[in-house]
Amino acid sequence: MPDRIYNFSPGPGTLPQEVLAQAAKDIVNFNDKGIGLIEMSHRSKEFMKVTEDAMDLVRELLNVPDNFKILFLQGGASSQFAMVPMNLLGPGKIGSYLNTGTWAKKAIKEANIIAEADVAYSSEESGFDHVPQDGDYTVNPNSEYLYFVSNNTIYGTQFQTMPKSDKMLICDMSSDILSRTFDFTPFGVVFAGAQKNMGPAGTTVVIVREDLLDRTPDTVPTMFRYKTHADKGSMFNTPPCFAIYTVGLVCKWLKKLGGVEAIEAVNKEKAQMLYSTIDSTDFYKGHARINSRSPMNVTFNLPTPELESQFIQEGASLGFDGLKGHRSIGGVRASIYNAFPKQGVVDLVDFMKEFERKNG
Ligand SMILES: *Cc1c(COP(=O)(O)O)cnc(C)c1O
Repeated sequence: MPDRIYNFSPGPGTLPQEVLAQAAKDIVNFNDKGIGLIEMSHRSKEFMKVTEDAMDLVRELLNVPDNFKILFLQGGASSQFAMVPMNLLGPGKIGSYLNTGTWAKKAIKEANIIAEADVAYSSEESGFDHVPQDGDYTVNPNSEYLYFVSNNTIYGTQFQTMPKSDKMLICDMSSDILSRTFDFTPFGVVFAGAQKNMGPAGTTVVIVREDLLDRTPDTVPTMFRYKTHADKGSMFNTPPCFAIYTVGLVCKWLKKLGGVEAIEAVNKEKAQMLYSTIDSTDFYKGHARINSRSPMNVTFNLPTPELESQFIQEGASLGFDGLKGHRSIGGVRASIYNAFPKQGVVDLVDFMKEFERKNG
């Protein structure tokens, strides 16, 4: 067994080892100041700088325009399913949704509690094996926004290009933020739980267009208003200090590698290795349609559920951890986020070929 296993977990996902090592040191003694990172006041000069640096790096790496605020919130990406309609809709208003999987469905449920969700498209009937292409759906003309999940973590599908719409786009990018470049112009809100591709669990990065901050109905309580957090630089109350700090470290690591464009090329290469292995045989069958394949979560099946559990078990004994598919679709899922090493993909491909040779 190698001393660090390959972590294919969908989330919390693998982090760069140098980030873990730095965090371990700073937890005990931050910057050699004789105080641990997670026991420091969030209003101390040192921690304010940690937060500002993390925000600046997120802005720089994602090329976030000046008219967007970057917030570090708590409550997970799941809280945003409610906060988006709370802040942008309110009673009597409509938001349109593309139902491409479990996370979209959960967001639709919350929207219907607050206001009305118009489900413009659903790929549920085909087991969420694809995302819609432009022209596959029409959005209610009275809708305030078009909400979608850019990468469907469970099914292994991704909007390979962002949807085009005359409506403002709202996006849950939890499992592919910082993995590829995109243009912010059509977006109103982008959010992502940090624990998939940008850090540990505990904070959700919410990037919100400034002019939307005044839309929130008066009935929304203080903690659930984007403006509350935007006005206070995410320091309205005690923020998730450790998670924010670690997001900053991950961003520094990514910047050193050459930023999002550089990692995007590596991500494509990693995914291509797996998909071409899947495509080269009938033994492995990809779950996602080719035009919807995710470079982050690669989902596939083997001829029988028995072979799938044998594959997952044998893989685990070789140091491939977390390959079991989500309980809702079964099979195998290899989550290969930014920090997942290319060598791990090379080794997995070798294992897949060997497994097929022995069992095919
Ligand atoms: C994991 C995940 C979520 C849920 O995130 P929490 O932070 O656990 O609430 C939401 N959306 C997507 C796309 C995810 O992958």
